Amino acid sequence: MHFSTCTLCEAACGVAVEVDGNRVVSIRGDGDDPFSQGYICPKAAALADLHDDPDRLRRPLIRVDGSWRESSWDDAFDRVVHQIDRIRKVHGPDAVAVYQGNPTAHNLGLITFGQLLLRNLGTKNLYSASSVDQLPHMVAAHHMFGDGLLMPIPDLDRTDFFLCIGANPLVSNGSIMTAPNMRKRLHDLRARGGRVVVVDPRRSETAAAADQHLFVRPGTDALLLLSMIHVIFTEHLERPGRVGSFTAGVDALRKAAVEFAPEATAPATGVPARELRELARAFAAAHGVAYGRIGICTQEFGAAASWLLYALNLVCGRLDEPGGMMFTTPAVDLEMLAKRVGLAVGFDRWRSRVRGLKEYGGELPVAALAEEIETPGRGQVRALVVSAGNPVLSTPSGNRLDRALPGLEFMVAIDPYLNETTRHAHVILPPTSPLERSHYDVALNSYAVRNVAKFSSPVFERGPDQRHDWEICLELWTRLGLPGLPLGPLGKLAGGLTKRALRRLGPEGLLDAALRLGPYGVRRGRSGLSLRTLRENPHGVDLGPLMPRLPERLRSNDRRIQIAPPLFLEDVARLRARTSVSSPELVLIGRRHLHSNNSWCHNAGRLVKGKPRCVLLMNRRDADIRSIANGDRVSLVSRTGRIEVPAEITEDIMPGVVSLPHGWGHDRAGTRLRVAERTAGASVNDITDGEAIDPVSGNAAFSGLPVQVERVDC
Ligand code: SF4
Repeated sequence: MHFSTCTLCEAACGVAVEVDGNRVVSIRGDGDDPFSQGYICPKAAALADLHDDPDRLRRPLIRVDGSWRESSWDDAFDRVVHQIDRIRKVHGPDAVAVYQGNPTAHNLGLITFGQLLLRNLGTKNLYSASSVDQLPHMVAAHHMFGDGLLMPIPDLDRTDFFLCIGANPLVSNGSIMTAPNMRKRLHDLRARGGRVVVVDPRRSETAAAADQHLFVRPGTDALLLLSMIHVIFTEHLERPGRVGSFTAGVDALRKAAVEFAPEATAPATGVPARELRELARAFAAAHGVAYGRIGICTQEFGAAASWLLYALNLVCGRLDEPGGMMFTTPAVDLEMLAKRVGLAVGFDRWRSRVRGLKEYGGELPVAALAEEIETPGRGQVRALVVSAGNPVLSTPSGNRLDRALPGLEFMVAIDPYLNETTRHAHVILPPTSPLERSHYDVALNSYAVRNVAKFSSPVFERGPDQRHDWEICLELWTRLGLPGLPLGPLGKLAGGLTKRALRRLGPEGLLDAALRLGPYGVRRGRSGLSLRTLRENPHGVDLGPLMPRLPERLRSNDRRIQIAPPLFLEDVARLRARTSVSSPELVLIGRRHLHSNNSWCHNAGRLVKGKPRCVLLMNRRDADIRSIANGDRVSLVSRTGRIEVPAEITEDIMPGVVSLPHGWGHDRAGTRLRVAERTAGASVNDITDGEAIDPVSGNAAFSGLPVQVERVDC
C-alpha cells in the first residue's frame, strides 16, 4: 500500500493506493491522514485513469510537415532550445511568452524548477491561470497586507457563522481554502449551533445545504459587501478589535460606504434591502467569517469585491481571530521564501504592449495574450511556452487564442496530452504522471484550514525514457544558459550551482531546505520538520489550528493594514455608476461539478459517464419566454461567438441568469483525447470576451457576460 496525495483539486486529500506491478488496483481515502481523515471525492479514482490512460504521452512529440512523430528527448530539447534561442536573439526576450496552467500549484517540480526556467526567460509576457482565477484576491492582499501571497482564509472549523459568497465549497472542497470533506465541516459547524448563509446567483449544492440562501445578480457582490459595511458603520456595529490598532484608513472606508445603503444597491444586486440589513447585523453580532471565491473574482469588480470582503471581516473584528479570517503558518512559507530568493512582487511595474493591462507579480493578464500574438510590431509575441495549461479552453475568448496560436513561429508545450492547446505546438514534452513523482503541496498548504504538512514518495518509479517536469525544466534552463533566480542569496546560490548539483538536489532537496528554514524547521539544535521527518510520517503531520499572525506577518512598509488603499477608493466611482446601470436581459455565470475540474478530468471514462454535464441551466421564467423546454438544444450567443448546448430548466437559478461550466469543447480536430471527444460539450470560452476584465486587477470577467439564448430548431 502506498500513501499519497490526490492532486486533482485544492483539497489535497490523502489517498491509499494499492498497486500490482505497474497497475493501480484501488485508490481509497487514507483514514490515517490527519487532515482529510479518509475522505475522498469521486475524482480521486481518476488518478489511476490518468496514469493508465493510453492517450497520455510518454515520449516527446515533434510536429513535422503537419504530422506528429515521436522523437528522442535529445532531439526534442535541441529543437526547443534552437528555436527559443533564435527568437530571443532576433526579437528580444519579450518575444517568447509563457503560460502556466493551474496544475502548477499542485506540482512540487513546477513550483521549484519550473520557475527556474519559466521566470528566467526574462520575458514581460508571462501569463498564468491566476488571471482567470484568484488574481483579485492577490491584488487586494498586496495592497492591504503588503504581499499578494498573504491571502487570509476562513478558520472554518472554529467559526459559528459562515457567510459564503460566490463559492460552492461543497463541490470544490474549498478554493484558496484547502478543506477536504466540506460536507462534514459544514455539518459540524451547524451541529455546534453555527449558521451557513450563501449568497449566489444559483442555488448551488452549498446553498441547498445552507440555513439561508440569497440570490444576487452576477457582478454586484462588491455593492452588496459595501452595503453591509454601510450598515455596520451607520448602526455603529464596527469592532475591529486588536487588529484595529494597526489598521489605517477606517475613516476613508466609512466615507466610501456612506452612499451605499442597502436601499441604494438593492435594484442592482437584487437583494432586498431589509434582508441585507438583517444579514449585516447578524454577521456583525456573530463570531463568523465572510468568504468569497471564484464568483466574486471572475467579474468586472473582482478586486473591489475581494477588498471589501477582507474589509468586512476586519471591521467586524473577524480578521486574524479564531473562527474568522486567518493567515496560515505553513511549514514551507512561500511568501518568506520568495523574499529570501529576492523575488520582488510588484504591481503595475509594466503594462501589456497592446492594451496597457497592468502587471502583477511579474505576470500580465492572460486576456491580453491573443492580441499580443496577433498584433505586429516591436515586442510582438512570436513564441510560446505552455506548461501544464490548456488556455484555449480556459481563458476568455479562447476561440480567438485558438486562431492566433498557428501564427506563432514556435510553440512548445510541457504537457502529457495532445489537447486543444498543445495541438498547436511544434514540440510536446510530456512529463511523468502524478503517481510517478513525489509530492508536497507547497501552495495549497499555504491556504489550508489547518496547518498541515505531508510528503508523498512516488507510487511508481518512472520509466528510463521518461522525464519529470522538473527535469524537463532543468534541462531547458541549462541548455538555454539562463541565469539563476534574480538577486538574493538563495537565487545566487541556485545560479552558481551546476546542473549536476541541481539535479542531485532536485525538488526534494529544495523542499528539505525550505522545511528546515520554515517555522517548524530543524535548527538551533532543536528537532523539527525536515524531509526526513515527513518521510517517517507518510500520512502527514498535523501542525495545529491556525494561529493569530498579525502584525508580524504584515509586509506593508509601515507594518499596518491598509483598509482603504487608494487604488480601491478610486474604483468606488465605478461602483457608484453600477448602481444605476440596468442589467442585461440575460447574463452568464459558470459552474463547477464534483466530477470535473477545469478541463483535466474529461478523458477519464468514469468521470464523464452518466448525464451530460455541459448543459445550460436556465430559470423557468426565462425558458418559457423563449419557448424552451427541458433538454432542448439552445444557441448561446455573445458579442464574440456562438455555441450550442442542451438546456436544463430549473428554479435553482435566478431569473435573468444562465449557467454553463467551463473546460468543455473537446470536439476540435487534431487532439488525442478519445474519451473526452465522445462527451465533447462546448467551450464556454468560445463566447466569453477577452475585452471584459476587471480593470483594477486585470482578471477576466467571466461572470455577468451578456448573452442571448434561443431554441435551436433541429
Ligand atoms: S476533493 Fe479534490 S483532492 Fe480530494 S479526492 Fe477529490 S479531487 Fe482529490
